[in-house]
Amino acid sequence: MTEFNHDIFSDVVSANEMFVKGFQHSELTGTARRGLAIVTCMDSRISPLAVVGMQAGDAKILRNAGARVTDDVLRTLVLASYLLGVNRVLVMPHTDCRMARDDEATIHATIEEQFGVDTRSLEFQTVSDQRMALEIDVNRIRQYPLLQRGVSVAGALYHVESGHLEPLDV
Ligand SMILES: [Zn+2]
Repeated sequence: MTEFNHDIFSDVVSANEMFVKGFQHSELTGTARRGLAIVTCMDSRISPLAVVGMQAGDAKILRNAGARVTDDVLRTLVLASYLLGVNRVLVMPHTDCRMARDDEATIHATIEEQFGVDTRSLEFQTVSDQRMALEIDVNRIRQYPLLQRGVSVAGALYHVESGHLEPLDV
């Protein structure tokens, strides 16, 4: 066991002390009040709830590198659709995504060159065509047999330069 590192995480802990003082969400449950789940990228420029004008309690947020629909995303959406009030899913990749800039081999090579670590046992699931990947990912959710029937699934591209959410036909 390793002791909590208060030096490295001091800003996080002290900011939380302030957060607790103004905390107003104690009445919330784990059900998504607005019935929405957003699948998006880990990119730090995206505040998913703010993008769609929502707040804590309103929506489920699933994030990974590239906003890809992985097995774990499907597992989570199944739970969310049956048990946590989700009846619509928005898959939301974004412009200027690192996962759409370099291909799989380039990213492995970059890490190997800079850090001497061979990461090729991982599949990063980079994207060569974002719209095509979005279509595949949206349809992967739509066609997933274990998801609750009647869940609406859509795709939209978030523009990190302007904040605009561009709905796409997929
Ligand atoms: Zn990204």
